[in-house]
Order: sequence, then structure tokens, then C-alpha cells
Amino acid sequence: MNVAQPQYDRARLTPGIVHIGVGNFHRAHMAVYLDDLFALGESHDWAILGAGVRPADAAMRSALKTQNCLSTVIELDPQGRRARRGGAMVDFIEVDPSNAPLIKAMCRPEIRIVSMTVTEGGYFIDPATGELDPTKPEIVADSRNPDRPATAFGAIIAALRSRRAAGIPPFAVLSCDNLRSNGHCARAATVGLARLSDSSLADWIASNVSFPNTMVDRITPATGTRERAMAAAFGLAEDPAPVTCEPFRQWVMEDQFPSGRPALEKVGVVFTDRVHAFETMKIRILNGGHAIIAYPAGIKSIEYVHEATANQTITAFLDRVLTNEILPIVPPPAGQDLFEYQRQTLKRFRNPEIADTVRRLCFDGSNRQPQFIIPSIRDNLDKGVMPRGLILESALWCRYCYGIDERGQTIEPNDPCWNALTAAARAAKENPERWIGMRTIYGELADNRQFVGAFADALHLVWSQGVNAAMLRYLENTV
Ligand code: NAD
Repeated sequence: MNVAQPQYDRARLTPGIVHIGVGNFHRAHMAVYLDDLFALGESHDWAILGAGVRPADAAMRSALKTQNCLSTVIELDPQGRRARRGGAMVDFIEVDPSNAPLIKAMCRPEIRIVSMTVTEGGYFIDPATGELDPTKPEIVADSRNPDRPATAFGAIIAALRSRRAAGIPPFAVLSCDNLRSNGHCARAATVGLARLSDSSLADWIASNVSFPNTMVDRITPATGTRERAMAAAFGLAEDPAPVTCEPFRQWVMEDQFPSGRPALEKVGVVFTDRVHAFETMKIRILNGGHAIIAYPAGIKSIEYVHEATANQTITAFLDRVLTNEILPIVPPPAGQDLFEYQRQTLKRFRNPEIADTVRRLCFDGSNRQPQFIIPSIRDNLDKGVMPRGLILESALWCRYCYGIDERGQTIEPNDPCWNALTAAARAAKENPERWIGMRTIYGELADNRQFVGAFADALHLVWSQGVNAAMLRYLENTV
């Protein structure tokens, strides 16, 4: 099968970006956008130097170095898979516990962006304050040893210190992690950590370094046997680290790059000062939509997301809740048609090639519901609308956390707070207020009698008639 190769002379590329955390997502997202841009003959001084601060990154480095830093990316299009060898990365910096090679590379004047995908945990942010948590052991260690940092942010601070001393303008720090206001999180981590050892440097960073917020989107599974077999079918069995991903991708960011940036707008990246509006759209429709199908599917023992979307009642439930209760309260970002986004979202859920699991979507409701569902409930109530579909979704989450599905099978723990959730779900079967009374999740909604009554009705319906009948009743009543 055909594998697309870089359509430009890689030998003529020069680096402009250091990327920390070369996982699957980076290679399926940012590196693909740059590969497309280079193929247009544009921005050839913005190639990527791969980097990492963890031992696993050394393994990725040796894997990629065996193939001249080319990355295999297979797009899982249901109409037919497509493979490419992305060439945007030209080298991978040596991974060393002191991070000296990384710091040295970030001091090179031609490096004007340091980007990262270091996962949510890599920011050490205290969710209660939105600021750096100074008690984390890694942060304590880096604040005591700023010249031998172990974290990505410690290394960034060391490089910024050297650049300031040498009179080299700072680079922009570009977070590509799936965090709301990820630029603010990167700023909080960098300035907060610098302040623990050098407050004048912290002030200088706060005034001189830009941290654009970005919204990133592309489902990129971890690589396992199935993905390796796909690579082998393209004649790439020797590739030690192939990546697969859905065809859809989106990247929205603030245009805050004082030292310049690649012309990414030429390959579909949206530059806007309203990234927050795109994040809201994604969280309420895509992530909210995932939650709406996850729990009925989980209770009905459905394994894969595309199987859940083949169930007509679940799809009708999703469609109705999105159309009647979510789209009306989401302000559309400029140039974005929410109905088209909804249509596209359902198409993405239906893609059988991704083999995304219902269990993954059901995971961590205690953290996800307050972000993905409860704000939509609140917004409807504020408008005087009782969002019965979203309330049924909440009742289905409660029913799922009971821990036994409709076939009588045990649902294995699927939340960091699983034991507390299960206890509340069991008590709620008789007394629904025990569920809504979880104030860390429902907040002041626990005091809204109409909401509590509607939740009790929904939960009663689910227990007395089953999940399918509960969804059908909602669909009949909202026609
Ligand atoms: P991955 O496991 O393939 O790679 C994770 C990378 O992060 C590795 O390089 C690892 O060394 C590094 N890392 C992990 N913890 C770190 C830490 N504490 N400090 C520094 N580096 C650390 O995962 P992935 O699929 O590439 O996803 C990475 C991130 O990308 C996600 O956490 C998410 O924020 C974002 N993202 C992923 C997807 C997706 O579908 N995979 C979609 C959108 C956004």
C-alpha cells in the first residue's frame, strides 16, 4: 500500500521549535500540520527538535533516530486508511537526567518556540487555586536544584535564564496539552516554579515570555498490537513507533509569538483571541456528547463507542440532548457552525477504525461531569429551562456507579473516587438526594428543589423501567 513521503527537501530544513514530550499526539497533530506546511514550500526554518525529560523519552529517541526522525502516521478513515511518513522533526535531543543537552538546545537563538505535550500531570497545577502546587516532590526538587532541573518547566526556566543573561530574546512557550486555558497553566507553572528560586527571573518571565492558549483536538490512540499490524500492512513492520489517529484534526491558538511563528494559518490552524469559545464548544458538545452516550452504553454492556452509536435509542438521545439542551447555550465561536460541528462530532463517534472504548469514556466522571455536563445544566436552569435530558444523563451516571450493569455483571472500578461514588449511588437508589448532595460535584445545585425533584424522577425511571425505556420516555416527552 502507498505511503506518502515528505514533499520537501528535509536536508534544507532548519530547526525553530523544541518540542518536549514526543508522544503519539504530538506526532499526529503539530508535526502533521508542520509537515503539510513544509510541503507548501513554507516556513522551512521552523523544523522540530524532539525532546523529553523522562526515561521513556530516551526510548522514543532511539526508536525515531533509527529512522532519521521520520514518524509514521496512519489516518483511520473508515473509507480507507492512509499512511504518511512525517518529516517535520529533524533531530531528537539527547535525553539526560540533568537535562543539560535540552537546556543547551533551548538556548540556541534560532529556537523561537518551545512547545510541549507533557500530559495534564506535567503542569503540577493545584486545581483548587489554578496555581503551581509547590508541595509536589518534583517541584520541591527543582526549586532546590534549578541548575539540574528534572521537570520540563525547570528546564525551560534554566534556558530562559541563560537567554536573558546572553541578551537573546525569549522563545514562546506553546502548550499543546488538553487543558482548559493551557497557556495560563504553562505560565503558572513556569513563573510559579521560577519564583521559588529566583523572584527577579520570575518577574522577567512574567513580563517577557508569551504563553499562547491553544485548543487541540485529534483522537490519537496509544500504539499496541492492532496499530502495529496496521503499520505492517503498509510495509512498515520495522517501524518501532507508528502512530494512528482519526482523520479529523483541529488547532486553535492565540497569535502571541513575539519572536515569530510558522505560517500555520496556511494549513488550517485558526488564530484567534477567543480560544476560550472554541474550548467551550469542544467541552460542551464533544466531551459532553461522549458522556451522554457513555453511561447508557456502559450500563447496557456495550464495549465500543461505534457500537453505542449503532444503537438507535442512544443516538436519538444524544441528538436530542445536544440539539435541545446544549447547542442553545453554547455561544458559537466566530466562523463556526455549531450544527455542522454536532454533525461532525457524531461522525467521529461512529468511526469504527478508532476502536475507542465505552469504558474509557465512562472513566473519571467525578472530574469530568463538573466540566462537561454540570455547567450546561446550570446554564439551562439560569435561563429558566429544566434540562431533562442532561438530568437523565446525570441519573445514568449515578446508575453506572452503582457498579452492576443491566446484565447483572460487575462494573469494575472506573473512577479515582469509585468507592465513594458507589456508596452514594447505592444510597441514592432509595434517597436520590444522597447523590446530588455530593457538593464537590453538584455544588449549589443541591439546594435547587426543582432540579433535585427532576433528578429523583429520572433516577426512579431508570431503576423502575430500565435504561432504554428511560431514554425513550425522554424522547417521547420532548417531541
Ligand atoms: P503519550 O503517552 O503517547 O505521550 C506522553 C508524553 O508526555 C511522553 O513523551 C511522556 O514522556 C510525556 N510526559 C508524561 N508525563 C510527563 C511529565 N510529568 N513531565 C514531562 N513529560 C511527561 O500520550 P499522548 O497521546 O501523546 O498524549 C499526550 C497529551 O496530549 C495528553 O495528555 C493530552 O494533554 C494531549 N492530547 C492527547 C490526545 C490524544 O487523543 N492522545 C488528544 C488531544 C490532546
